[in-house]
Amino acid sequence: MRHRLHTTIPVRWSTICEHRRFPTQINSRFGNSSDALYLRRTVWCCRNSYGDQSEMEQVGVCASNSFPDVVMGDPESLEKKIAAIRAAGPQKLQVIADFDGTLTKYWINGHRGQSSHGLLQQENSKYDVKRRELAEYYHPLEFNPTIPLDEKAKLMEEWWEKTHALLIEGGLTYDAIKSSVANATIAFREGVVELFELLEEREVPVLIFSAGLADIIEEVLRQKLHRSFKNVKIVSNRMVFNLSGQLVSFKGKTIHVLNKNEHALDMAAPVHDHLGDTNGPVDDNASVKKRTSVLLLGDHIGDLRMSDGLNYETRISVGFLNHNVADSLESYRYAFDVVHLNDAPMRGVVNLVSQLCST
Ligand SMILES: [Mg+2]
Repeated sequence: MRHRLHTTIPVRWSTICEHRRFPTQINSRFGNSSDALYLRRTVWCCRNSYGDQSEMEQVGVCASNSFPDVVMGDPESLEKKIAAIRAAGPQKLQVIADFDGTLTKYWINGHRGQSSHGLLQQENSKYDVKRRELAEYYHPLEFNPTIPLDEKAKLMEEWWEKTHALLIEGGLTYDAIKSSVANATIAFREGVVELFELLEEREVPVLIFSAGLADIIEEVLRQKLHRSFKNVKIVSNRMVFNLSGQLVSFKGKTIHVLNKNEHALDMAAPVHDHLGDTNGPVDDNASVKKRTSVLLLGDHIGDLRMSDGLNYETRISVGFLNHNVADSLESYRYAFDVVHLNDAPMRGVVNLVSQLCST
């Protein structure tokens, strides 16, 4: 986990606000080294050698629409990680990404974007009501700090399994998934296609971990990106449909919000069968485990645990802080190497990957 280091970059908050408008003018001790390009072009640092808590209070004061787009706590550490991953080469790199709120936008035309789970509308609407009632009961328990973790995990499993049972009982069809996605308020961040294309070109696998439903995520990929990627795998709950296209069961162990990182690699299922890719998977789980450089993308601090099953040597974590920014920025900045704010596009990550994969 991160340790607290103070950068020596002499940047004050007022300077950050100024540089936000003129990003290429920021100067740092990284000089012109290529490793520093990502830092100089896209990353602003709120921590400095002479401003500590007071600096963060200023961030809070600047709350409304005044947060920088990108923040990092320890540029020196990031610089070293970038250099280490570049030295290891793209053949050692893999990307692990959360789906909702990470690859997808948090706000869409002023409305809160829907999650892959939340967008689902069954043909029999009384089952939508039943699932919503379950959510109203269990969701507060998920965030109840007085419930021990093991007890909470059982409650989450109970919630997920009841929800899955309602989907089966209500006769969910694949056609309902297609129309739900078509009508949903869900969109990828700008730059996700560029990111996947670049990673596919460099043969870097992408694992998308989600406690949602793999079949829905695949349909969102299909409808919103209009193409498939050989290197992308979904690790999530997978449905089994009968010949009439009706849901009859779920494959394997239930993946819920508190266990999505356990055994996830073992449960990784190639997306290729479902997206019509005939070339087969580009990477199996064993070779994924041999990729010792990790780029992790998430929107919750708990997403950092997505790499728990990997024996990685270097990990760069990128967080998307979507809401509750004033209260959470400090903890995100210490947890992640880079934090994107303001529902930022994925282009900063594209720039980062370009550097990680450059020779
Ligand atoms: Mg998420």
